[in-house]
Amino acid sequence: MRDVYGYDLHTHSSLSDGRNDLLCMLRSAEAFGMKGMVFTDHTFNNQGAEKLLEDYSAANLPASKVRLLYGTETTIADFSGRPAVSPSLLQRFDLVLIDFGGILFQQFADYSDKKSMALQLFDTMMEVCRIPEVTILAHPLNFGLAPLQIPLSLFTDEMLENYADAIRRHGKVFEIMNQMYFWHTSISFEDFHREYSRVIAIMKKAGLRFSLGSDTHSCCGIGNLPWARKIVEEFDLIDDLFLPPQWNKTRMNTKLQECAAMTC
Ligand SMILES: [Zn+2]
Repeated sequence: MRDVYGYDLHTHSSLSDGRNDLLCMLRSAEAFGMKGMVFTDHTFNNQGAEKLLEDYSAANLPASKVRLLYGTETTIADFSGRPAVSPSLLQRFDLVLIDFGGILFQQFADYSDKKSMALQLFDTMMEVCRIPEVTILAHPLNFGLAPLQIPLSLFTDEMLENYADAIRRHGKVFEIMNQMYFWHTSISFEDFHREYSRVIAIMKKAGLRFSLGSDTHSCCGIGNLPWARKIVEEFDLIDDLFLPPQWNKTRMNTKLQECAAMTC
């Protein structure tokens, strides 16, 4: 198995809400000895996705030993689980992540009971697995902070087993995001780690593939994966880790770079 910790599949630049531009991100990745990095800037609507694709194409980054892909982290539009960006635009990115974020969380304003919120989230989680353009489910179960404040414990083993089955059937990848604890800071880290371990044990048993991402929003955090690595080692996930198919090829070019060379 190649050095899986040398690949960061979830990063943000100043093209969305990150601090540093693409060139600075690339130079940092080179300095840190990274093998590959995916830019996954946020897209919340079609206009933003078109702008991001244009910005990626215009970046014209220098040749590098670091393999780059130009992806996006889009978000869920509503309880149906559909993405906020149209399929035809998502298909133009090298890799698509999707998260549960503010656009969806706002739609829980009329809910007060945590259990019914968890049930609604579960229904939407199941639907998101069906989206063909999505490869990676970004930091699943990131519901511990305001406005939802839904603890992991509200997702029973049975719910998680059904979720795992849907992820496997639809070929999606479960992300282990290094800062996952960020979403569950109202409980101790030890309690969070115990609950998250219950989740991972169920996902592992279902035979899922996992991706690793820092979700860094600055160049400093590229490849910052110590806790994700701990999870990989505790659950022996090394052979279950996902890398984008583009990196299984010997060629360094990404889809976008190939496209630029052909001036298409
Ligand atoms: Zn992110």
